[in-house]
Amino acid sequence: MIRINENYLKLQASYLFSTIAKRVNEFQGQNPNTEIIKLGIGDTTRALPAACIEAFHSSVDEMAADATFRGYGPEQGYSFLREKIAENDFQARNVDIAADEIFISDGAKCDTGNFQEILSTKISLAVPDPVYPVYVDTNVMAGRTGDFENRRYRKIVYLECTKTNNFIPDLPTKPVDLIYLCFPNNPTGATISKEGLAKWVDYARENKSLILFDAAYEAFIRDEALPHSIYEVDGAKEVAVEFRSFSKTAGFTGTRCAFTVVPKECMAYDSQGVQQSLHALWNRRHSTKFNGVSYPVQRAAEAVYSDAGKQQVRKIIAAYMKNADLIRQEMDALGLSYVGGENSPYIWIDAQGDSWDFFDNLLNSAGVVCTPGAGFGTCGDQYIRLSAFNSYENVEKAMKRIRESLK
Ligand SMILES: *Cc1c(COP(=O)(O)O)cnc(C)c1O
Repeated sequence: MIRINENYLKLQASYLFSTIAKRVNEFQGQNPNTEIIKLGIGDTTRALPAACIEAFHSSVDEMAADATFRGYGPEQGYSFLREKIAENDFQARNVDIAADEIFISDGAKCDTGNFQEILSTKISLAVPDPVYPVYVDTNVMAGRTGDFENRRYRKIVYLECTKTNNFIPDLPTKPVDLIYLCFPNNPTGATISKEGLAKWVDYARENKSLILFDAAYEAFIRDEALPHSIYEVDGAKEVAVEFRSFSKTAGFTGTRCAFTVVPKECMAYDSQGVQQSLHALWNRRHSTKFNGVSYPVQRAAEAVYSDAGKQQVRKIIAAYMKNADLIRQEMDALGLSYVGGENSPYIWIDAQGDSWDFFDNLLNSAGVVCTPGAGFGTCGDQYIRLSAFNSYENVEKAMKRIRESLK
């Protein structure tokens, strides 16, 4: 008899975005003339940089002639892209990461989700609360989490991010094997200092743990003191894997290109306590299960590192951050406290009450859609997330309406 993986039955249906859509549709039905402004979006809204489009077009043309056609590429990614990443994202910041430690993929979502596959199902794990749900659900599927009770999985250690700790989690009080961190954070927009990150690296070294560091929003960092990579911390290469993506950096959410850094020094242990190379295991997994990102997409991603591409990316990010600045100004004027928006496209606002009530109020009185924090974990119950992924005109309009309705 064919049987299912019953861990899947432990997964909680995420009602977050379907409930939002339902309430928005109801509101629109009752208010057909109101133009709803969506500030709940976790997706980029601006066109790809022109340099990427140019590279995309010309590489598609290469596919049209036998002489320049490309079939299967290297599963790990073309070296033209891996080398540009190593040079620009790491070596230029005095971080010694080599091209062959970079694995090109079709998404940081897939990679943060898949990486746990090369680790034992017997390990303990810690995730932030509020959390990007992929970290949790992929471990549920793998059977590491136990049952769901009172909105939490019994065997997960939840790293609470609250106003008390400035939304930077405290170290766990008991040893944890696998730790997920995300900075700049989704959903809170909080950032971590190099010293703060060093505490986690030290913890991982002492406890023989592994940190999976999600840096998908690294490009939004404006404060020059903040680390862009966990490898800026000494010793991190032995205990951390880093995930990056062109999705939020350069608007590749629909184009698909990302990468994962697995340093050669990064180790985990077998049941005999013998060190094993995670680089070797990930390479094996990646080349067995993945066929590489398409050639034109990798050429488009490469163009992010051209002079023109860099300039265009800076401009796009600056435009989103101008939206974030406007949102922060308005929240200051309204006397609402928040975190984020300074080095990230998200602003995490204290709703001073139930996050769904605040959502309803904002929708009904201002026609503005936010994301209720409760959807990201219990620590989000009193928060909402506003996103800077929209046009300046829309953000301006939304802020004006919020000002008038909450005043
Ligand atoms: C958007 C996002 C990513 C990027 O995912 P892709 O699959 O590369 O599009 C990764 N992590 C977090 C927390 C994100 O919000």
